[in-house]
Amino acid sequence: MSSTKFTEVNPTAQNHRIPLNDGNSIPLIGLGTYSTLRTTPKDACYNAVKVAIDVGYRHFDGAWVYGNEHEVGRAIQEKVADGTVSRDDIYYCGKLWNTCHPPEMVRPTLEKSLGLLKFDYIDLYIIELPLAFKPGDEIYPRDENGKYLYHPTDLCATWEALEACKDAGLVKSIGVSNFNRRQLEQILNKSGLKYKPAVNQVECHPYLTQPKLREFCNLHGIVIVGYSPLGTCRDPLWVNTKIPSLLEDPVLNSVAAKYKKTSAQVALRYQIQRKIVVIPKSFNSERIKQNFEIFDFSLTDEEMKAIDALNRNERYVELLIWKDHPEYPFSDDY
Ligand code: NDP
Repeated sequence: MSSTKFTEVNPTAQNHRIPLNDGNSIPLIGLGTYSTLRTTPKDACYNAVKVAIDVGYRHFDGAWVYGNEHEVGRAIQEKVADGTVSRDDIYYCGKLWNTCHPPEMVRPTLEKSLGLLKFDYIDLYIIELPLAFKPGDEIYPRDENGKYLYHPTDLCATWEALEACKDAGLVKSIGVSNFNRRQLEQILNKSGLKYKPAVNQVECHPYLTQPKLREFCNLHGIVIVGYSPLGTCRDPLWVNTKIPSLLEDPVLNSVAAKYKKTSAQVALRYQIQRKIVVIPKSFNSERIKQNFEIFDFSLTDEEMKAIDALNRNERYVELLIWKDHPEYPFSDDY
């Protein structure tokens, strides 16, 4: 599968790429790889990526800050070495962390990820959050009172540094994550803009369908990558558990029963049918496989509408600890 080939007909397990605005393409499903390091056994991510490649996944969503990029890279290297895939079949998305926004830090930070992954390039690099933190060794810098230490944010300057990484061939596509409309417009209206963001990775699932942001992104040719497509792991340390569990939703479960599928498969199918990329995380072999089995059924228009109607405009991932950051993205309507 070349990086520019995409499917113009129904997505299949073998070809489910959709076009990006820069001439590249992105697979509609990828494996999420975030898992709390504290409680995740060593090599769980490595094993999951290997299983996923055998199942048919070609897209992996990671980040330097997840602390397991070396495991993702090692799994991919091994699957390339044993002939299962070639590097070009694989699509990897990495992320620029908040403490690395100053333009001069962008390329060295990307190169750090390339080193961990043992890649010459990555397919997509995105600004993880529009929130600059104080640069330094601390991932979550705080003062002696526990207050987070922020840094003046200049999203356009950071964006220009990403553009330079694309020009240098270190990354094929560039994008953003957790940007609201105003922040996207800042980039889109930047004088001398060379590349538009190819994607905006945001929380998206049947309880947060993002109708307004989706319309705005469609208008500008920006693909939405939906994170937490299954409603997260519900870890109360970072998840808003006041929202009920997505996978227990009665509508999703009744549609699932009709197709002899699970609510997770229906939630994922709903998104890819409306051209939203999904990146479900699982480190469990059965569920990795299950989440990929979404190309052998389709939802009717009525079912799509019934799932649209589940939208509550509420987030599992609110990031309220950073609500006082001047660029906190979720106070705006969208
Ligand atoms: P998901 O919505 O993907 O849910 C993951 C949870 O669901 C895990 O606990 C997993 O457990 C479980 N699970 C997976 N498959 C099934 C299934 N078929 N049935 C029941 N349970 C299932 O949550 P995430 O928040 O992890 O989001 C996915 C990815 O998005 C992340 O891993 C990360 O790559 C990215 N992300 C990006 C963010 C950003 O700011 N840009 C923020 C948050 C996430 P198990 O592993 O045991 O199967």
